[in-house]
Amino acid sequence: MPTTSKAKPHIVILGAGLGGTTAAFEIQHAVGERASIQVISDSGHFSFVPSNPWVALRWREPEAIQVEWRPIFDRKHIGFLSTGAKRVLPDQNKIELKDGNIVDYDYLVIATGPDLAFDEIKGLGPHGGFSVSVCQTAHAALAADAFDRLVADPGPVIIGAAQGASCFGPAYEFAMMIDTELRRRKVRDRVPMMFVTPEPYIGHLGLDGVGDTKSLLESEFRNRHIKWITNARTTSLEEGIMHVEEVAFDGTIAATHALPFYFSMMLPAFRGIPAIFGIEGLTNPRGFVLVDQHQRSKAFANVFALGVCVAIPPMGPTPVPVGVPKTGFMIESMVTAIVQNLVALLDNRPPTAQATWNALCLADFGDGGVAFIAQPQIPPRNLSWSSQGRWVHLAKVIFERYFLRKIRRGETEPFYERLALKAIGLNKLKSK
Ligand SMILES: Cc1cc2nc3c(=O)[nH]c(=O)nc-3n(C[C@H](O)[C@H](O)[C@H](O)COP(=O)(O)OP(=O)(O)OC[C@H]3O[C@@H](n4cnc5c(N)ncnc54)[C@H](O)[C@@H]3O)c2cc1C
Repeated sequence: MPTTSKAKPHIVILGAGLGGTTAAFEIQHAVGERASIQVISDSGHFSFVPSNPWVALRWREPEAIQVEWRPIFDRKHIGFLSTGAKRVLPDQNKIELKDGNIVDYDYLVIATGPDLAFDEIKGLGPHGGFSVSVCQTAHAALAADAFDRLVADPGPVIIGAAQGASCFGPAYEFAMMIDTELRRRKVRDRVPMMFVTPEPYIGHLGLDGVGDTKSLLESEFRNRHIKWITNARTTSLEEGIMHVEEVAFDGTIAATHALPFYFSMMLPAFRGIPAIFGIEGLTNPRGFVLVDQHQRSKAFANVFALGVCVAIPPMGPTPVPVGVPKTGFMIESMVTAIVQNLVALLDNRPPTAQATWNALCLADFGDGGVAFIAQPQIPPRNLSWSSQGRWVHLAKVIFERYFLRKIRRGETEPFYERLALKAIGLNKLKSK
């Protein structure tokens, strides 16, 4: 399959977020001197995305959750470019960079995360729209300024997700965290809160629930005086007003709402980034990479993909489109499978490793939180476990410190696998 005559195969990892970073370290650990490894990112630093909601409430400074790449990759002898890809050319085994240069590869691992589809809803998002975002650390820093304005001049808040969104955990987290922070600032009594989501019920999470996340999160919302609208299709935003349609199960519009807000954070739908969008055979109509059970492109046998950029069909039909989340545990298992499959290919063996695609999520509320594990992610499951308590907030802080330390040191370790096994073990002990 390698098309170049270089002595060493060249493995390129495109994207240096949570998935690409883990993949780069793990691949280097597994293949050592047998291949040259290069990471191509569109930025010079790593951002720990799960901590973005904390940045938006000034519980973290942006710099505290970012790590400069160059010294780490230099130390690990991993090539690094921060130019960003303009277009992947998989039929030529090349990547065109944004500066016009071309990079050749023998094997490509695509880990480019999401393109944020704010433009699909008029007035949505931080680029000229009326809502803030926590999807990127720079967005979260802007959201912190908007939050300061809310505290100075309290009024209605809307948190939620747009139709087609797939990442609901951070929306629930952020709603609860805002409630916690506004109570701390003693202005919560002047802030009516509303949660707007395309999910058919609270706690669906794109996973048709995990354990009893429905009761758990509904009860949490009731305790915190947060109202909600489910099956919601957000049609547009203007200054201070969000227009929402509530869709019935037969697809008709059951109600329309013009919701006032002073502050709103709505997660957008995701799609594939422009560098891979619309490449025939590589991506689906939303620009997500189509992979087989070995995380390998169905059309290009030397291309693998992991993380948010992978195409996963929705859990089932819902009145309003709801995507499936791709979280850390699942991403880690995709990395493990790709590493084993690359080693197999270098050994001239067929790839056989498969990702497990489980979900483990810690949703922090600032003063507590909810944790859940879904094994496998798609029901019916062998394990559906959810739990809540103050320990979740602490666990998330520990997780952040652990992960950033791991990145700074360039270490490899299947963290989620260990944590999940521990949690399952504790759960079994508790139920005896
Ligand atoms: C606010 C938020 C909180 C979350 N919290 C959690 C959590 O607590 N636990 C959990 O398990 N999951 C969480 N997730 C879900 C998921 O784990 C994260 O989204 C995770 O960052 C996804 O990893 P990824 O590598 O697929 O994508 P990303 O981390 O988004 O990485 C993609 C990388 O590709 C780069 N890139 C983009 N375009 C180009 C280009 N043209 N050329 C080169 N590089 C490019 C980007 O700069 C980025 O570095 C959260 C998601 C969000 C949005």
